[in-house]
Amino acid sequence: METLNNLLEINPNYIVIGLIVLFFSLEQILKTPFKFKKRGQHLFQNVLFQITLVILNIFFITLVVYSIDWLNNSQTGLLYLLELPFWVKLLLSVALYDLTTYWIHRASHKVPLLWRLHRVHHSDTSMDSSTVFRFHPLELILIYQTGNIITSAVFGTDVLSMALYYFILYIFFFFEHSNLKYPNWVNSTLGLIFVMPNHHRVHHHQEQYYTDSNFADIFIIWDRIFATFKELPLEKMNYGLKEFDEERKQSFLYLMKSPFINIERRMSEQSEELKNDSEGKPAHSNDKNGI
Ligand SMILES: [Zn+2]
Repeated sequence: METLNNLLEINPNYIVIGLIVLFFSLEQILKTPFKFKKRGQHLFQNVLFQITLVILNIFFITLVVYSIDWLNNSQTGLLYLLELPFWVKLLLSVALYDLTTYWIHRASHKVPLLWRLHRVHHSDTSMDSSTVFRFHPLELILIYQTGNIITSAVFGTDVLSMALYYFILYIFFFFEHSNLKYPNWVNSTLGLIFVMPNHHRVHHHQEQYYTDSNFADIFIIWDRIFATFKELPLEKMNYGLKEFDEERKQSFLYLMKSPFINIERRMSEQSEELKNDSEGKPAHSNDKNGI
């Protein structure tokens, strides 16, 4: 318990800085699945999102913590109906925050207003560790922070489990978005339960057929249970969104204002074919060539 408290007392910004330095350096040193140019410029643009988020979040995170504490004090939520050991409740709460995130993420792909914010994250044509930062701050603050309060109101999860959830989530975020190769045994074992880079890469494919899959952040079991799990070989990967392909549309300033611009979603013929092919088939009919 003391170890957990010590761990969660570390300033989350230091953890994020440590993770980006580690993963970005590994991508520079090791042989990577994709070769991306102008990595420094790409990193700089993405870091601007994180700086904006940190500044805006100072107020909102206080609001979220206050709201969840208030809900816990009034013993609101399903977990208060059960007598559970501390660690079971803690881990279950982490899974429940992840479950809510799964559904919010899935809705963000379906509801046009939410997609306007979420497409900023999908716009990255050269996905690497710094893509973790490329989220519109309004999405993380307004949508996902509200999701955390709803999770607490429905399930009775607390601030400690939310802190642990974000600690694990950021490690997974860097792991999933990094442009690194991982051993096959990692995918075939841990990949049964947890989200692997190969799973999340499919989610960043340009074709909407693939973008609308693998919504989970930590537990891939949500996609397996709710039939949104798909696989695709690495060599078929094509990151980004067609409507954001131009270089000027990859800049921080353009992306920050992009939710307020009408941008039509562009689909390729291949996307239409995939959609037609999948009709009548269950969404989780996996590509047998999956990696
Ligand atoms: Zn998404």
